[in-house]
Amino acid sequence: MRKQIVVGNWKLNGTTVLCHQFASGLADYKGSVELVICPPATHIDCLAGAASAHHSKVGVGGQNVAAQFSGAYTGEVSASMLQELGACYGIVGHSERRALFGETSEMVAQKANRLLEVGMTPIICVGESSLVREGGEHGKFVGRQVTEVLSRLAPSVESAVILAYEPIWAVGTGNTASPEQVQSMHAHIRAVAAPFINSVATRVLYGGSVTPDNAASLLELPDVDGALVGGASLELDKFLAIAGGC
Ligand code: PEP
Repeated sequence: MRKQIVVGNWKLNGTTVLCHQFASGLADYKGSVELVICPPATHIDCLAGAASAHHSKVGVGGQNVAAQFSGAYTGEVSASMLQELGACYGIVGHSERRALFGETSEMVAQKANRLLEVGMTPIICVGESSLVREGGEHGKFVGRQVTEVLSRLAPSVESAVILAYEPIWAVGTGNTASPEQVQSMHAHIRAVAAPFINSVATRVLYGGSVTPDNAASLLELPDVDGALVGGASLELDKFLAIAGGC
C-alpha cells in the first residue's frame, strides 16, 4: 500500500515567518496524507525546528543537493548538511534545474545517490516539454529520463526513491495535465522503472499547476500517489486543501 504524499516546493520563496505559520498551522493536521515542505536551504533549519516545537508532523526537504560529498565546491550544500538541518527528502532533477542550470540525468543520479547514502529520500523529477508532447514523443522521452537516472542509482534502493512526473508545460503555467494524460504517463513510468526499483511500491507524484480545484481529480487516479506543488504550496490553506483532496 503506497501512502499518499503532498510535497510543497517553495522554490526561491519563503521567509522565517512563513515557516512558523506552516509549522503551527499544520500542528493540528490529522489527515492520512504525508506532508512535506521543501523551503530554500537557508530555511530548512527554521522550518524543521518550528515543526518540532509545534509537534507538527510536516516533513522537510531540500530543493537541490550537491552531487559531491564535500570539498572545494563553492556554494554547494551536501546531503549530510541538509540532513543535519532536519531535511529527510531532497528534490532532484526539477525541470528548472535541468533547463536553467544545465543539470543532466547523470548529475541527477549523482545527487540522488548522495541523498540515498545518508538515508534521505530523493524525489526524482522527470517531464517533457510541450514540443516533445506535440511531437508525440513524450512517453519515449520521459521513459528515457527515468531509465537514465534509475540505472545509475546504487543498488538496494528498494522503494527508497519517489518519482515525480512534472510536464514542463504544466509547471507554473496554470495548464494542468488532464487526468487521462497523467494516469497514462504514471502507468508508463511505473512500467519503465520496474527493472531498476520496486516500482509497485514506489510513489509516483504528479506536479504541474496543482490547485485545490483540480487536486482531487488527479490524486484519485490509481497510479498517482500524491502531488509536487509549487505556487499553491506557499499558501497554507491551499496546501491543506490539496492534501485534503488525496
Ligand atoms: C513545481 O515547481 O514543482 C511545480 C509543480 O510548480 P507549480 O505547482 O507552480 O506548477
